[in-house]
This record gives sequence, C-alpha cells and structure tokens, in this order.
Amino acid sequence: MSLSRDRVLAMFRESGALLEGHFRLTSGLHSGQYFQCAKVLQYPEFCEALCGDISRIFEPEAVDLVVAPALGGIVVGQEVGRQLRVRTMFTERSEGTMQLRRGFSIKPGERVLVCEDVVTTGGSVNEVIEIVRGMGALVAGVGYIVDRSGGKVRFAIDEGGVQHPVMTMSVEAFQPEQCPLCKDGLALVKPGSRGNS
Ligand code: ZN
Repeated sequence: MSLSRDRVLAMFRESGALLEGHFRLTSGLHSGQYFQCAKVLQYPEFCEALCGDISRIFEPEAVDLVVAPALGGIVVGQEVGRQLRVRTMFTERSEGTMQLRRGFSIKPGERVLVCEDVVTTGGSVNEVIEIVRGMGALVAGVGYIVDRSGGKVRFAIDEGGVQHPVMTMSVEAFQPEQCPLCKDGLALVKPGSRGNS
C-alpha cells in the first residue's frame, strides 16, 4: 500500500523536516515553507517507510542495482537497495562533473534504479542517467522522496520503467520585493541560523 500524503506530511512535520513560517531560501527567494529532507531520513522508522514506498514499486528481480547521486541521494539509495537486496552505489561530483568513482562499476545490460532525496530541476538525476547509459546499462526507474517541481520534471526511463516520487510538493517562493509574508511583517528566518540547514 502506498503512503498517504497526510502520513508523509506528518512524518515531515514530526521530524522537523518541514517548517512553516517565513524563510529566506538559498536562492534568495522568500517562502512560507522550508524543507530539509535529511531531517526526516535521520529516523530509521521514517527512512524505512519512505524508502519502502519506492522499493515496493519494483520487483527485486527487475532491478540489478541502485545508483544515487551524492550527497542527498545516498541515504535513500542505500535504504532502497537494502530493502530490494541489491547492491547500491553512488556517483559524486569531481571538478564539477558527476562521476562513478571508488572502483564502482556497472555492466552493460544491467537494470539500474536511480534514487534521490529531493528533485527540483532533476539535474543530478539526469547526470546519473547519462552515466548509466554511457555504460550500456538500462534505467529501470527513478525513485525519490520529494518532487519539488510540481510534477514537471520527467526523466528518460527505459521501456517498462517507472518514475516514482513519494510525494509532490510545489514550492511557493517569492521575490523579496513581492513577498506577501514580508508585507504581513513576519520576521524572516534564514534556515540554518536556527540549526535547520
Ligand atoms: Zn518575505
């Protein structure tokens, strides 16, 4: 059974991963919400349940391995790979380029499930897909915890594959001069200054 939106939101709120207020995002935009995925994944029961919503979609025999982009994707990849009992590796950026290092290797024809924590533009996942294809392997699916693109990002997945976000959450962000929260006089918080980064 898939997780309900309410149950996912309850996990985010209970763990402090989802804060409501008036925040200055890294982009400089203001938002009424701030989300830090790592905070919910620190709890094994939440991590297991959220990643279980990804792994249940895939038959273990349909996936040969999981690959996730560092840093955020590693926790999700590792837990999904553990649940599916398949090997798990990660890519990392070196001199600006996403690479598979540490002696990790993917064989031609292997079916890869790509995992990530949060997808906003899909940049890192697309870089992983490029690496997987470059090795002659197949993209069996992409699983991630939160889609912040409002469902706009579509990944190039091989036939029969699945794209599965546990939850879609659109970000409402404002230019500071147009921010309704500023107009309401709400104090602006820079996440991180309260230990939430
Ligand atoms: Zn504001």
